[in-house]
Amino acid sequence: MSTILIVEDNATARELLVELLRDARYPVIEAEDGAEALRLAHTQHPDLIISDVLMPEMNGYELVRHLRTDPETALIEVIFHSAVFNEPEAHDLARDCGVTHVISKPTEPKKILNTVAEVLRAKGTEPTSPLPASFDHKHQQLLTGKLMQQIDALDRSEERFRMLAEHATDIVFRYHLHPTRAWEYVNPAATIILGYEPREYYADPKLLYKIVHPDSRGELESWIDARCASGDTTEIRWIHKDGRTVWTEIRSTPLRDVVGNLVAVEGIARDITERKTAEAKLEALNKELLRSNKELEDFAYIASHDLREPLRGINSFSSFLVQDYGDKLGEDGCSKLRTVMRLTKRMEDFIDVLLTYSRVGRLELAFEETDLGAVLNEVIDSHGLLLQETGAVVRIERPLPVVRCDPVRIREVFGNLIANAIKYNNGPEKRVEIGYELQEERSAPSAQDKLQPPGGDEGRSDSIPYVFYIRDNGIGIRAKHFEAIFKIFRRLHGREEFGGGTGAGLTITKKIIERHGGRIWLESTYGKGATFYFTLQGDEHAGKDEPADSHRRGQSRGL
Ligand code: ADP
Repeated sequence: MSTILIVEDNATARELLVELLRDARYPVIEAEDGAEALRLAHTQHPDLIISDVLMPEMNGYELVRHLRTDPETALIEVIFHSAVFNEPEAHDLARDCGVTHVISKPTEPKKILNTVAEVLRAKGTEPTSPLPASFDHKHQQLLTGKLMQQIDALDRSEERFRMLAEHATDIVFRYHLHPTRAWEYVNPAATIILGYEPREYYADPKLLYKIVHPDSRGELESWIDARCASGDTTEIRWIHKDGRTVWTEIRSTPLRDVVGNLVAVEGIARDITERKTAEAKLEALNKELLRSNKELEDFAYIASHDLREPLRGINSFSSFLVQDYGDKLGEDGCSKLRTVMRLTKRMEDFIDVLLTYSRVGRLELAFEETDLGAVLNEVIDSHGLLLQETGAVVRIERPLPVVRCDPVRIREVFGNLIANAIKYNNGPEKRVEIGYELQEERSAPSAQDKLQPPGGDEGRSDSIPYVFYIRDNGIGIRAKHFEAIFKIFRRLHGREEFGGGTGAGLTITKKIIERHGGRIWLESTYGKGATFYFTLQGDEHAGKDEPADSHRRGQSRGL
């Protein structure tokens, strides 16, 4: 029986062939590549070699060439078993080196066995022709042709990349870091953005360091030396050739050699000067706003503080006048003086409110974990008399949790909101309901809910996940007044109605909430009561605690 040598670098493909032929009772030997096959051909003298064409070390053609040039192996029949036999040149080359049979991968086992049988039957009847002189040349041409095709494909994709890059409005670059620093590519957008032409970059690998703004030098160095390799994005300021400052945002991809060493970075630098300038302007404006707010608050504080003295003087002297010179002034004079005293008293009240308001803005808040349930109880207790007089019922619908806030200030918030809830109600059964909802239980606040501080802080998330509410069944507020009532001295009623007031309670309440990073808003149907909501912002631990006084869930207090 004829011995067959199978040459195939792919172990699975080799095994399949070996199994098939052994099954057909051929003695089979195997080799992983051309070089090993050549050795076996000399030692084992197979009758037939079935060889793959593309293999490392020595390919199928080279194997046949070696076989044919040595008289000892020249007559061994060869069948090519290859996936790359569609090209006519490959067929020609096979024929030239005396390989008449080619089996394409994959092929049915039966066809393989038939071809093997046919070749072995004909063996010896047709002497294998010697290699023509043109073989080496053709072989080389085929390999070179393949290489050129691949280079062409690469060139075409590089060409496409260049076309894209040449027309991009962002800077596109490839910068070599090792072994030496050099620009491999910079697109024309670099000229528009930074003023220097690509050739100026190519001529000076260090140009980067010369045109970087002094304030960005450190960032550039640390980015190139350490962070660009991880694809980190950076913002760098440059000095344009014409002297102006340009900001770019650079996104990069590291390029590594086969063993993983960083050799280059390629990336995109976008001109973000406009955005940066706008940001800087906004920041300056914000600073200015903060500064002038602070100045106003200081002014209000000092002015109201200083105004109190002379007012107190007017009041005292007016009362001396009434007491000591009452008879001389007569009833009419005394009555006029009493009006002066009433008016100065009102002025004092206003000044007190102004002082309180400006103090709230100036105060350092003392944040601490606060049991809001306990705070609420204190507030309700302190309103005992009012509750008694009005017959109002305060119901805690959901015991309040422990949160991080300034307890003194939040007590004022509850105090103001509860007092208003009782005050602005002329119905026979006054009810106040207090509780909270989880933020996630609520749908997004509607436009009218967004009563936010000037400067806009949309998108801010309140880290305390509760929305507290104080609901009453009082007179309610028209939607058109929802914003106005938070303005200082703004009242919707006459001075004598609803027990009077200065119109500053809600302004101070809002200020306290804002200083806690929260929001306040209301919902109301005129004539049917109002609900005031507020949120708070604590730190990351805030709001995770269980309600501290859960045993009081649903408790009613009628005082
Ligand atoms: P004050 O109560 O001293 O007038 P506030 O700033 O507390 O000042 O309130 C401003 C105005 O908002 C009040 O004059 C009143 O008209 C209205 N208001 C406040 N709370 C309520 C409420 N719960 N129901 C109806 N109206 C209210």
